[in-house]
Amino acid sequence: MKTLVILESNRGTLHRLSKEAIVAAQNLGGEVYALAIGKDADIIASELENVQLKEILMVKNEFVESYNADGFTEIISQVIRDEAPENIMLGHTYQTRDFAPRLSAKLDIPFLPDIISTQNGKFVKQVLNAKLNASVIPLKEQKIISFQSAAYSDEDLVSGQSSFRELDIQFDSSVIRSKSEEPFQEAPGDVDLESADLLVSVGRGIEKEENIPIAFELAGLLGAEISASRPVVDSGWIDSFRQVGSSGNNVSPKLYFSLGVSGAIQHVVGMKGSKCILAINKDSEAPIFEIADYAVVGDVLEIVPNLIEALKKS
Ligand SMILES: Cc1cc2nc3c(=O)[nH]c(=O)nc-3n(C[C@H](O)[C@H](O)[C@H](O)COP(=O)(O)OP(=O)(O)OC[C@H]3O[C@@H](n4cnc5c(N)ncnc54)[C@H](O)[C@@H]3O)c2cc1C
Repeated sequence: MKTLVILESNRGTLHRLSKEAIVAAQNLGGEVYALAIGKDADIIASELENVQLKEILMVKNEFVESYNADGFTEIISQVIRDEAPENIMLGHTYQTRDFAPRLSAKLDIPFLPDIISTQNGKFVKQVLNAKLNASVIPLKEQKIISFQSAAYSDEDLVSGQSSFRELDIQFDSSVIRSKSEEPFQEAPGDVDLESADLLVSVGRGIEKEENIPIAFELAGLLGAEISASRPVVDSGWIDSFRQVGSSGNNVSPKLYFSLGVSGAIQHVVGMKGSKCILAINKDSEAPIFEIADYAVVGDVLEIVPNLIEALKKS
């Protein structure tokens, strides 16, 4: 079995979800290839030099210096035709959502998006707001599969050796019919939630805007960054660049300390890669407790001020 993992650049470094897709491919067995495209292809590829891969393929092309849906679709199509992988795997990122359906339509191979695990040739996907898991069996041998954030851990990458091969892919400039802008980042400031080690995350359980400062005070004492659920952002209580979830950031801190977050699936997909989850919620049935390592059933408005006092004394 031959699997090709399409790599993604995250502002010049290898995207965490690309590493997770490699782990998924390694777990599946067989020969695993990776493909890096663009002017920084060799930089991204070099991050994998100590990872067990059959080969890392690199494509540099004058029309696709950075991500472009038409260019990516053309280059990957040509590589798939030449290398004939059975599986084409990717992280389920915004970029994947943009070009993978085009690739699927162009080559007439099925696209299985947002997969969480694989079992004996079946691909497991969450349905009905993550209340059920469905096993998908593709009817064709060749398929494109994207994996949900944190379905696999990049810490499980199998180390080893791989070799590099640069491919010469040519096509006419008329293939490029659209231009992608630089990845959108709203008010980035100096906050990089996706690489933060500690996050204090505020949910609607904080109850009102006047209570937000206690979360910032706690974060300050812990040396943590602040993140938030969407309703807190939508209410204008916290800046939108701090939102975690399917329409916000994908975070994987060492500690995710949530204050009154319910654990809706749209939030959880953005933070379930956290190494340790500590959740306070006054509802013992809150879904966040299903993924929490430490669950505190109680009122954030009582617990957090006491915690602040204790931290100040220590
Ligand atoms: C297309 C789409 C995209 C979305 N994208 C995102 C996204 O990117 N990020 C995101 O977060 N959401 C997103 N959502 C919204 C998501 O479905 C949930 O509505 C949201 O995550 C809930 O936020 P919350 O947990 O803060 O609020 P709630 O669901 O209202 O939960 C509040 C929690 O606080 C607890 N609580 C209340 N008072 C206290 C107290 N005093 N002490 C302790 N606990 C208390 C309650 O028990 C409850 O569990 C999206 C929804 C859609 C449809």
